Amino acid sequence: MGKSEKVLQLCRENDIRMIDFKMVDLDGRFRHITIPVERFGERIFEYGIGFDGSNYGYAPIEKSDMVFIPDPDSAVMDPFVEIPTLSMTGDVCVIGEKENRPFDQYPRNVALRAADYMKATGTADQMLIGPEFEFYLFDTVNYQVSPNGSFYEADTRQAEWNTGTAEGGLGYQVKHKGGYHIAAPQDISYNLRSKMCMLMEDWGIRVKYHHHEVGGPGQLEIEVELGEMVDMADKTMITKYIVKNAAAKEGHTATFMPKPVYQEAGSGMHVHMLLFKEGRPVFYDKDGYSSLSQTAHYFIGGLLKHAPSLCAWTNPSTNSYKRLVPGFEAPVTIGYATSNRSAVIRIPAYAKAPEDKRFELRSPDATANPYYAYAAILMAGLDGIENRIDPSANGWGPYDYNLYELSSEQQAKIQSLPKTLEEALDALERDHDYLTKNGVFPERLIQIWLERKRKESRTISQIPHPAEFGAYYDL
Ligand code: GLU
Ligand code: MG
Ligand code: MG
Repeated sequence: MGKSEKVLQLCRENDIRMIDFKMVDLDGRFRHITIPVERFGERIFEYGIGFDGSNYGYAPIEKSDMVFIPDPDSAVMDPFVEIPTLSMTGDVCVIGEKENRPFDQYPRNVALRAADYMKATGTADQMLIGPEFEFYLFDTVNYQVSPNGSFYEADTRQAEWNTGTAEGGLGYQVKHKGGYHIAAPQDISYNLRSKMCMLMEDWGIRVKYHHHEVGGPGQLEIEVELGEMVDMADKTMITKYIVKNAAAKEGHTATFMPKPVYQEAGSGMHVHMLLFKEGRPVFYDKDGYSSLSQTAHYFIGGLLKHAPSLCAWTNPSTNSYKRLVPGFEAPVTIGYATSNRSAVIRIPAYAKAPEDKRFELRSPDATANPYYAYAAILMAGLDGIENRIDPSANGWGPYDYNLYELSSEQQAKIQSLPKTLEEALDALERDHDYLTKNGVFPERLIQIWLERKRKESRTISQIPHPAEFGAYYDL
């Protein structure tokens, strides 16, 4: 049976009229192009669908033709469109004289090469990861956009709440920083969150649980079961697609922006991780600190050593650094510890079983392109193993105290995470040899990323900020 036959069978069974090809752009957004089912056939797998790569951030206009080749195994019904549509993801290729070849900067290809590199090192044959999805639901549910633009202020809501101008009974308003696991009737988005999770299950994404988060009202979280790294990057794209579309269907908007509300909890995308070799957990040793093996410690060492440059992939927006501030369970310093939510690496105390022994990197947020972010995390960890970077020998902990409340003496000894996007980009410029090993991250991609992100940061810094009016307008 040809590749197209399998897809066409699905089309017949579901009365499909359109086939939708979803691609990922440089920033990590889905883009799509759609064909009538009548145009679908075996030729698509050979010649692909042509598109303009310059609009995706992948190529200059003078060399912008690229092709998309769908993956028949990715075919699934898109639940959000009216017209019966089959959705497919796949690979992006550059056009050669004779044949097309996979585009080396395409995010999925970078992640695949990182996984191959891991296997080649002999350390492990599988990396499992578990991202945590935090996001806010806006519009009819809670905050209003201020007349100054998209500037939300927790104080405004607090004032409404205090003066009784907020809608609903005061006793049932989620209080400032008071949303964590809040039950009904305050948990007004329970049904919508459940729908999101059911759609995820239907799409093949195993949900661990969902709940209201600290920020409130309207900060929500969905966690998924751990899965293989590249597959989990695909699932990260799809989860965000489902969350945003399910919200939009009900007249809300969901945002993964790291810090949409000043003085309220930000939204992270913590990443749990562990390695397996021949089915055995590489990170477990019952005698190690927090039952972690020496290899796990070296992996942590790599993550901490490269933490500043990693941020250029895991926290690639100017808004990312408004989240990485003290007091909101987001990390600000470079260190690790068990149970400590102020550290950039937390070892969950409850994950005790050998095959569950893992840690989470707390810096990432969902403005990351998940393929680049997960690949960079893996490369940093592998570099730690290769160079035997011991985190405790480098003064990175374990820190079993609140890292938001340091004396100036302690502060002087502890390294900080970057405070701005520019700082992270400068770190990436200095420190990226661990990424380019075996061509996993092409040097060219790093240069494009630096250029693009610096431009983005410069542009945003030139825009007068609503808060500047408060501070300077009457001077
Ligand atoms: N929202 C917090 C962050 O920005 C994390 C809270 C948690 O530990 O789940 O990372
Ligand atoms: Mg959370
Ligand atoms: Mg977490």
